[in-house]
Amino acid sequence: MNSSTADTKTNDKVQSRDFAFQAEVSRLLDLMVHSVYSEREIFLRELISNAADALDKLRYEALTQPELLRDDGDLRILLQPDKIKKTLRIGDNGIGMSRDEMIENLGTIARSGTKAFLDRLNAESEAAAKGQGKSEAGEKNKLGLIGQFGVGFYSAFMVADKVEVISRKVFEDTAHVWTSDGKGTFTVTEATPEQAEQLPHGTIITLHMKDDALDFLEEAELSRIVSTYSDHITFPIKLLDHNGEERKQLNAASALWRQPAHQVTEQQYKDFYAHVTGMWDEPQLKIHYRAEGLQEFTVLLFVPGHPPFDLYDPNRRGRIKLYVRRVFISDDAEILPAYLRFVRGVIDSEDMPLNLSREMLQNNPTVAAIRKAVTGRVLSELAKYANNDPEGYKTLWQHFGAVLKEGIYEDPERRDSLYKLCRFKTTKTAEGELRSLADYVADMRENQKEIYYLVGDNAKQVMWSPQLEGFKARDVEVLLLSDPVDNFWVTTALGFEGKQFKSITQGDVNLDDIPLAQRPRKKKKDEPDQQTIASVIRAVAEVLGDHVSDVRESRRLVNSPACLVAPEGGSDRALGKLLEKQHSGKAQAPILEINPKHEWIDLLQAKSRGRSIGDEKDRKEFEDLAWLLFDQANILDGVLPLDPVKYTERLNRLIFSAKPHKS
Ligand code: ADP
Repeated sequence: MNSSTADTKTNDKVQSRDFAFQAEVSRLLDLMVHSVYSEREIFLRELISNAADALDKLRYEALTQPELLRDDGDLRILLQPDKIKKTLRIGDNGIGMSRDEMIENLGTIARSGTKAFLDRLNAESEAAAKGQGKSEAGEKNKLGLIGQFGVGFYSAFMVADKVEVISRKVFEDTAHVWTSDGKGTFTVTEATPEQAEQLPHGTIITLHMKDDALDFLEEAELSRIVSTYSDHITFPIKLLDHNGEERKQLNAASALWRQPAHQVTEQQYKDFYAHVTGMWDEPQLKIHYRAEGLQEFTVLLFVPGHPPFDLYDPNRRGRIKLYVRRVFISDDAEILPAYLRFVRGVIDSEDMPLNLSREMLQNNPTVAAIRKAVTGRVLSELAKYANNDPEGYKTLWQHFGAVLKEGIYEDPERRDSLYKLCRFKTTKTAEGELRSLADYVADMRENQKEIYYLVGDNAKQVMWSPQLEGFKARDVEVLLLSDPVDNFWVTTALGFEGKQFKSITQGDVNLDDIPLAQRPRKKKKDEPDQQTIASVIRAVAEVLGDHVSDVRESRRLVNSPACLVAPEGGSDRALGKLLEKQHSGKAQAPILEINPKHEWIDLLQAKSRGRSIGDEKDRKEFEDLAWLLFDQANILDGVLPLDPVKYTERLNRLIFSAKPHKS
């Protein structure tokens, strides 16, 4: 199609340049241009949403520069259908875009929803490529996703075969025109004086409607779509006739959050959620209330139905929109702590001064008081939700639990409330089931004093850790932790209801006081005595040298011959491994624990006897065995043997020593 390189054409006065869309945008546009999606009407909600954001930004600027609103006090959105020209114009007198901003914003993908949408699309195409024959359903599915995620500005190409955007940024002398037919490239030109004249600042988007989209030029249809999706927009949305005469206002333009909760319908909440989050799924939880007293403010918050793709982006901040008496102030005021960064919505204060700069927000005492109150309220609403709808809460936890757990070490004051919100996989949960700490404590075994946990890369893998054996034998529940954040909160955690958290892969664990769940195995006749065990252990320690910080008899093993644990005091095995991977330290050498009841002891003992009287063959074999014991403990920990080459050599030597001799 069009060349992907930019070329420059110059006519008399204005510079016009062609640009190629970012590859992802081209993909998206291709989908839009060929769309027969039945809910194409959402293009309007997307464009109105952008216009409202631009008006919010302008109103904020005007707080410190009132001259911005002097000539044109009423901020509004205009819709102007023209059946003769087959165009629909959507205009706003908002902040506008400079030339560079147009190229950046309308040529690449900025919004998180769109990125998530493309990711899903990739995943689905791959799945479709594997199982063929489902392509028609796949196509439908893809388009259904547009409605779920919202794809912003680009959705215009579902209904238009050509889109023209004229925009002028506030305070700029020139306006620019962006045009595209959505097929690979777009053009940016300086606006003609006539075009610029219509626009002191703001943006006008002209859609040249496709022949099958002319319905959207009908007044009744526009009116229906606006009241369906955009009624809550706080600026008036006005319908003009093709001469520019105002016909009527299409929305209520009241700030939804200021209405009492019982007057707001579920659909209105859902549309508002879509507007503030840019996500088009169902919110998982809604929190709507008005605080009165020392501070007066209104809160309308949502926990989204899905995690955003950048939830763990280190630069991601909370995105609560802060308003002061209905005027948008900021969406990066960090009203909620980072561990609640998934909560989205609006907080509107009655008491704050309007002329507060964004920088001053950080230290403002009113903001601090609101922050404290709302954080507490969100946590208590989460607890209430967990109580009233355990299944719904489970979904919420699966999406955002790993983030909430950051609060355990970041916000010590609220640690106890956070503990109550935590849910875990444990050695006792069935597939898909989660348990709370209260559940855990209620089921603690006789004489059990601590809350045991095991950290590993994933819950399936940790399930077969040999360190668990003694716990299973005593029916002692162990929390199975596999989120990276688990490495950190467990190290700072104070106990829950007076019970300490204790890693089962670190330090000593004494389970002797807790009765076995099943009858113990009968003692073998010739079980090795204490002295034998001690001498075997000493000999293994000699062979392994610095690679272990100790070798000792294990009290946590039942079936496996050996396992590794971290020394008391330092970092746990899992954290040590993590830090080593990130090259931010060296894990302390582990302790090798040997199961004194395992037959390995007998074998080691036999070889060590020969070793001590100078038998060269036994000495070598003992060494091989000691290393193999250590290496297999590493493997069970999800780590490669220290020296994989030597490991295979040793293993092979052993295997071939079992080879029958030819006679
Ligand atoms: P999003 O709105 O989620 O960022 P869009 O693709 O809809 O994604 O829009 C991209 C960007 O283009 C917006 O973030 C905004 O900066 C800019 N933009 C879109 N429409 C307007 C408008 N009417 N006025 C000013 N800027 C706009």
